[in-house]
Amino acid sequence: MSDVRNVIIIGSGPAGYTAALYTARASLQPLVFEGSVTAGGALMNTTDVENFPGFRDGILGPDLMDNMRAQAERFGAELVPDDVVAVDLTGDIKTVTDSAGTVHRAKAVIITTGSQHRKLNLPNEDQLSGRGVSWCATCDGFFFREQEIAVIGGGDTAMEEATFLSRFAKSVKIVHRRDSLRASKAMQERAFADPKISFVWDSEIAEIHGDGKLSGLTLRNTKTGETSELPVTGLFIAIGHDPRTELFKGVLDLDAEGYLTVQSPTTRTNIPGVFAAGDVVDHSYRQAITAAGTGCSAALDAERYLAALA
Ligand code: FAD
Repeated sequence: MSDVRNVIIIGSGPAGYTAALYTARASLQPLVFEGSVTAGGALMNTTDVENFPGFRDGILGPDLMDNMRAQAERFGAELVPDDVVAVDLTGDIKTVTDSAGTVHRAKAVIITTGSQHRKLNLPNEDQLSGRGVSWCATCDGFFFREQEIAVIGGGDTAMEEATFLSRFAKSVKIVHRRDSLRASKAMQERAFADPKISFVWDSEIAEIHGDGKLSGLTLRNTKTGETSELPVTGLFIAIGHDPRTELFKGVLDLDAEGYLTVQSPTTRTNIPGVFAAGDVVDHSYRQAITAAGTGCSAALDAERYLAALA
């Protein structure tokens, strides 16, 4: 079975590249499917990353990912900018099919496909990402000190983001399309009690304005259709995330929200030889450093699994 790899890694964010680095340095010659559109993962869509340890002055997201990629490649990881379109993970030898229909075989598979934040799908949203538009208060809150900020959403995440942002911001307006919140009672009460937070009910964002930098929003009342202007320099979109687990449904155990479940604190899934790490598992922390950390764990778990087979 000379064509059987030790390990295939699906996904190329901080989790995938870290798993690639560790398995490559363990002489396991990993094959990494990076994805055809977003090789490098979520940080390719942002500007400054100031909270990844080791970069005292911060680093641009794409530069951080290029560094991680090059570091994995330096130790012999084979990186392919292609999508995995099918998997068969059940046997001792797992198969992974690429977009050209070629089937690749491996003894172990590490899944690091990440999660996709839900978008408003408005013009300017992508262009202003990292330039006033954000999906992560923990990541970007610090950039918005003494600024007027809007948070869109009505669930726990939106309340959590708003409450966190109120530490830095001059004011935080939560824009919600209904007149009541989905968030838990406790989270709602915390937001209602915060003097810097106010609510704009029955409203959605009709337009995002800004030339190179966010300057404001046009809101539309969902009941009357009336529009109004909201001049803000920060917009946090907190309307949910979708884990990229479509390929694994019915085969790997998923939680109620569709994320892969692992035998924590390991990265083992319910199938021996299949490991998962990063945001495809984690809907709690969602940070580059935590994704990289669990990517490392997945590599070490895979290494031990392969050693036990030998
Ligand atoms: P991802 O980075 O999402 O990477 C997953 C990769 O897998 C993608 O490249 C995808 O294309 C690929 N993939 C998916 N399916 C397939 C398939 N079938 N075949 C092949 N490839 C596939 N965190 C911080 O710590 N600091 C920050 O400042 C920060 N800023 C952020 C700014 C933005 C705009 C966003 C969106 C996120 C930010 N985050 C930040 C969060 C951080 O980016 C994520 O927590 C982290 O990238 C998750 O890493 P991951 O490896 O799990 O997944």
